[in-house]
Amino acid sequence: MANVAKYRAILLFGYPGCGKGTQGEVLCGMPNLLHLAMGDIFRALDKQSDIGQEFLSYSTKGLLVPDELTVRVWKRHVDKLAADGAFRPDYHVLLLDGIPRTPSQVEYLRPLIEVLRVIHLGIEDQNILVNRLKGRALKSDRPDDADESVIRKRIEVYEAETMPVLNALDKNLITNINADQPPLAVLRDIAEALTPVVPSKI
Ligand code: ADP
Repeated sequence: MANVAKYRAILLFGYPGCGKGTQGEVLCGMPNLLHLAMGDIFRALDKQSDIGQEFLSYSTKGLLVPDELTVRVWKRHVDKLAADGAFRPDYHVLLLDGIPRTPSQVEYLRPLIEVLRVIHLGIEDQNILVNRLKGRALKSDRPDDADESVIRKRIEVYEAETMPVLNALDKNLITNINADQPPLAVLRDIAEALTPVVPSKI
């Protein structure tokens, strides 16, 4: 069998509300970076489809979608982008936001991606997260942000299921950044960490 090259990837990692999405949106304006947020991929599914319905049955409760289904949806999306030419693996580094979110997703993705760096956006005070997410609910159509108990559940699920991902990754690849700073200061710290690992091939 031909040796299939892995996709190069940077992982954006942190609590819901830590600013991954905000930073991801800015960074994807940079040449060579392609931002892929798993939550956006799920939300773009047809809500009437079986998979769309399954997604909603978990997300509205603040729960994670099962691993196998998540990785299948992710892979299908990435393969389609590659087929359409929107993702050029020799040019783009993927900026993954919200995946992998469990140690088992790390294992599913291991043969598919080469992780160049992990940006861990840390926040001490959970109330900051809750307030940010409640604020976001007012601006976007996110049922999972509107209800404080669902927000608290997502924070709990993050601690129980997603934090262990950090132990499943090579520690030398992780850069810890304080996400409780103005967004531009967070961006500066991320840019500093990524400059050496993102190629500048135009
Ligand atoms: P947030 O980071 O604010 O929780 P996301 O937009 O990343 O929001 O995700 C929204 C929902 O999509 C999650 O609560 C979960 O139900 C589902 N989801 C997103 N990414 C994953 C993943 N990697 N594994 C399982 N479920 C996921």
